[in-house]
Amino acid sequence: MPTSVAAYAAQDNLSPLGPLTITRRDPEPKDVQIEILYCGVCHSDLHFARNEWGMTIYPIVPGHEILGRVTAVGSAVTRFTVGDTAAVGCLVDSCRECQSCKAGLEQYCDVGGSIFTYGAPDKYAPGEMTYGGYSTSITVTEDFVLSVAKTLDPAGAAPLLCAGITTYSPLRHWGAGPGKKVGIVGLGGLGHMGVKFSHAFGAETVVFTTSASKVADGLRLGADQVVVSRDAEAMQAQAGSFDLIINTVAASHDLDQFTNLLKREGTMVLVGAPEHAHPSPNVMSLIFRRRTIAGSLIGGLPETQEMLDFCATHDITCDVEVIRMDQINDAYERMLKSDVKYRFVIDMASLKA
Ligand code: NAP
Ligand code: ZN
Ligand code: ZN
Repeated sequence: MPTSVAAYAAQDNLSPLGPLTITRRDPEPKDVQIEILYCGVCHSDLHFARNEWGMTIYPIVPGHEILGRVTAVGSAVTRFTVGDTAAVGCLVDSCRECQSCKAGLEQYCDVGGSIFTYGAPDKYAPGEMTYGGYSTSITVTEDFVLSVAKTLDPAGAAPLLCAGITTYSPLRHWGAGPGKKVGIVGLGGLGHMGVKFSHAFGAETVVFTTSASKVADGLRLGADQVVVSRDAEAMQAQAGSFDLIINTVAASHDLDQFTNLLKREGTMVLVGAPEHAHPSPNVMSLIFRRRTIAGSLIGGLPETQEMLDFCATHDITCDVEVIRMDQINDAYERMLKSDVKYRFVIDMASLKA
């Protein structure tokens, strides 16, 4: 019999999130059942809850930065035992057979078989959708469950599962490291992790923020410089100097002010996924310097585990503000005002109480 568990859901694109009872399957032989202790609040949760990407099927239970404790395992599970710390990110399964899946890039599954943690057709319960981490428990096939070192603060580690890997992956792919100049645009959940990783990889790291109040934090997080992007003169001083820019901004904006900062053959990677399209970039700015605008989606399972292990070795976690489940609607409003220092994390004990 599937188990009933407490959750928080959006029922439509306008109403605040509220309580909902959902069911989770009993562990199958390869399944790990996890009691959720903490779940990070990603801006994608907000985009999805409000149907800003036009693909939401209600009710939706957001949450894909899940950290918890293993409460049961199926008979064929080998990597986890009851009591272990375990984590789940944005994916709970994929086709597993295509070239991308076989390469450990399950997020780019060639046949559209990536099963996202929420809002995707549930392979294990035909006709139903997956429900995310704003809930007290989740059951996930072992191959999509990650290990987290017990030495990492669990609340601070939860957002590594999306904010962490989404910045780690493009920084690695485009070779951030010594001798490279890297820009991070937007100091929010993703951005603050981008700064920490870029700095840890040894790159010269510059933060671009619209919030003058975040300058000191940017430096504390590891940036060599923080530029307020509304300051045209300060922007001009950075022109043509970047190898790589990771753009995490959650709203439509003028991309040219950042592409102009790239060196010849530099790349700006868009990870922010705003509701409304960016204005078309200036083609001449790209052509005349052979510049690239790219995109990147989270990270696959092997790289996510690599990132978690890197964080354990280097003692990296997210800067979090822990909230109760019933504060989620206020948290969304604050996120829209760029007022997050630097990730909200829900203490799931508050949903059980
Ligand atoms: P967040 O915590 O809200 O941070 C976004 C930051 O962008 C804000 O803190 C703000 O930084 C800046 N910003 C917001 N509105 C802006 C505006 N109108 N103009 C300029 N800057 C603005 O959000 P997040 O959780 O980091 O997510 C960021 C985006 O990435 C979202 O669209 C999310 O859906 C997307 N995302 C993508 C992936 C992926 O795999 N590609 C994964 C996760 C999330 P400042 O105050 O410093 O300006
Ligand atoms: Zn996310
Ligand atoms: Zn696949």
